[in-house]
Amino acid sequence: MTTSYALYEVRRSNVHGLGVFATRRIAKGTRIVEYLGERVSHKEADRRYESKDENDSHTFLFIVDSRTVIDAGVDGNDARYVNHSCDPNCESVVEGRRVYIESIRAIEPGTELTYDYQIQREDDDPPNIDEVFACRCGFAQCRGTMLWPTQRKPARKKTTPRRKQKRADKTAQRADKATRRTVKATRRTDKAGRRADKAAKRAEGAGKRAERAGQKGGRGRSEARRRTARSKRGGRRR
Ligand SMILES: [Zn+2]
Repeated sequence: MTTSYALYEVRRSNVHGLGVFATRRIAKGTRIVEYLGERVSHKEADRRYESKDENDSHTFLFIVDSRTVIDAGVDGNDARYVNHSCDPNCESVVEGRRVYIESIRAIEPGTELTYDYQIQREDDDPPNIDEVFACRCGFAQCRGTMLWPTQRKPARKKTTPRRKQKRADKTAQRADKATRRTVKATRRTDKAGRRADKAAKRAEGAGKRAERAGQKGGRGRSEARRRTARSKRGGRRR
């Protein structure tokens, strides 16, 4: 632990209250500090902070998973002072249900350590929630909030995931082949031509099925994304 202590110091920050600053050059990919505190359930965290002012953006809670929250307000260490940034030089890593702050780029001495809090939005957020968790990290691409995702957006344009797309492609290819077979058959006899008509119809059907598969894929993905957003995982909590 002594080596990791020597990597940083806690002092006043221009971003927010206290901050953590590199005291020497930190290489990319360095595990800098573990996020410590009392491990409690979400329910217990709710109970502890339910009386908190709605306009108070201070949080010492870190979500480990759907069962556990680390409350750095109790037995917390310096990790709780690492501020949020929209252009961070660190990230939080959940490993074996423990949380670590690690550098994602080389950090020069004197630089403040930051990571993206990615505080999750909830369905019952008040309208001023972005102001409560406003970000003043000062970077050109600052998204203006510590919440994630940035804003509730209307449903994204449908995209087809690769695996489903492949399946759709294959079906389309089969349809193509069927069409080619059809063309060949037409060249033969009338009788064969009628059979070819049937094949063409089948091909058309396959094409439509492929299209439908593609559409279904798009829907599946956006649903998956919504689920991810809802799951309580790896981020700061309020
Ligand atoms: Zn920002």
